Amino acid sequence: MTESLWGRTCQEHLSPVVLNGTEQADLVIIGGGFSGCAAALEAARRGAKVCLLEAHEIGHGGSGRNVGLVNAGLWLSPNEIEKALGAEVGNRLSTQLAKAPAHVFSLIKDHAITCEAVRNGTLNCAHSAAGLASLEDRQAQLLKLGTLVQVLDADETARRTGSNSFHGALFDPGAGTIQPLSYVRGLARAAVESGAHIFENSPVHAVSREAGCWKVETETGQVTAPALLLATNAYHDDFNGLAANDYITCNFFQMATRPLGDRLRDTILPGNEGCWDTAMVMTSFRKDQAGRLIIGGVGDLTHPASSLHAQWAARKLATLFPDLKNEPLEMQWQGRIAMTSDHTPKILEIGPSAYSVHGYSGRGIGPGTIFGTRLAEALLTGDAAGLPVPPVKAYREPFSDLKAGFYESGATLVHMISERV
Ligand SMILES: Cc1cc2nc3c(=O)[nH]c(=O)nc-3n(C[C@H](O)[C@H](O)[C@H](O)COP(=O)(O)OP(=O)(O)OC[C@H]3O[C@@H](n4cnc5c(N)ncnc54)[C@H](O)[C@@H]3O)c2cc1C
Repeated sequence: MTESLWGRTCQEHLSPVVLNGTEQADLVIIGGGFSGCAAALEAARRGAKVCLLEAHEIGHGGSGRNVGLVNAGLWLSPNEIEKALGAEVGNRLSTQLAKAPAHVFSLIKDHAITCEAVRNGTLNCAHSAAGLASLEDRQAQLLKLGTLVQVLDADETARRTGSNSFHGALFDPGAGTIQPLSYVRGLARAAVESGAHIFENSPVHAVSREAGCWKVETETGQVTAPALLLATNAYHDDFNGLAANDYITCNFFQMATRPLGDRLRDTILPGNEGCWDTAMVMTSFRKDQAGRLIIGGVGDLTHPASSLHAQWAARKLATLFPDLKNEPLEMQWQGRIAMTSDHTPKILEIGPSAYSVHGYSGRGIGPGTIFGTRLAEALLTGDAAGLPVPPVKAYREPFSDLKAGFYESGATLVHMISERV
């Protein structure tokens, strides 16, 4: 993580504690990302004794690597969510996730989390006329849920982004950006201050049932608790006793420039909105607090043809912002996204008073925070009615490797040919 921009600029810190010996708790959580840390904070806030075990450092997984766009809903539009989950569940999920940015920004404020939070809105930029039409359709659906999004024309989009590449944009003034690693570590710090016990560098080796409780073991200790949350998502390190989540891997990388000079900062994203486009192989871009431009795209930077992704990023930057043509991209990092076939998150009932959650499919800041909070509530009260989606007993993702290969080869092909003219 020290190679990533977020690792370098993280402003929230925990005193590292490794699990040593035996702990008894009301709730034990495995995994210290948005889901696990939001659950720990909620449990502690309710006065429960909660222990969270993280294999590495808090934010090691997707939560510490992401773009930092705090958006309402999921990638799918509300109508698509309803189609995937049915009217009742779809509406419940969309209604809860419509409030996700407000919930995230109020946690940041209440717990004074230092995470470069900027609530100036996000822009979903139309890369084509068809993209703009899909945004107009999405606007109508979001307005019904009370999310006050606006469609901007090409001129206004150019003024806000500093790029002439777009046909228009969907602006959500209630959304915003954060430094994601600082946010997740801030959630963990707030949980500790509320009484949670958070153990880093404490990989779980085994989970079993003993005398009606869950026993969660690491090399140096164990936690027993009547309730368990598995929040390892796409970064599950295998252990005995519970199966890993089933999902399709989609890699996403980001590259950052040096801090831009004043003139460029005033013309490129002068309002500091976070952006992504409507292309099927999408591009994200935003600035951080120091004024670096961060560009992101689908792809894995570790395979033999991955230089195609890096070359694309440099070309794309120059296409979007001709003034950045020769600007070096000095930092790069990537993360794994857990996709599901229907692009909706899954809660699994994995045993008595035990849930796992995964598959936010690329939108996990708001959803991870909301799902984690609601899961802690459900596990401590025994009432699952408030969960954003009903738990299922099992979830299989057939041909997941094949589908992951499809994402990667599709992105590589698109990156090989695009922005060449
Ligand atoms: C590159 C990238 C960009 C993204 N951009 C955005 C964005 O802009 N906006 C947005 O809303 N979403 C975004 N997402 C999605 C979002 O980051 C994820 O959905 C979210 O981080 C998932 O959080 P989580 O807590 O469920 O899992 P994670 O953050 O992955 O946490 C799981 C944790 O479990 C730990 N763990 C695993 N095995 C064990 C074990 N055996 N013992 C103990 N601990 C264990 C891991 O070390 C890890 O820290 C992005 C994702 C990626 C990868």
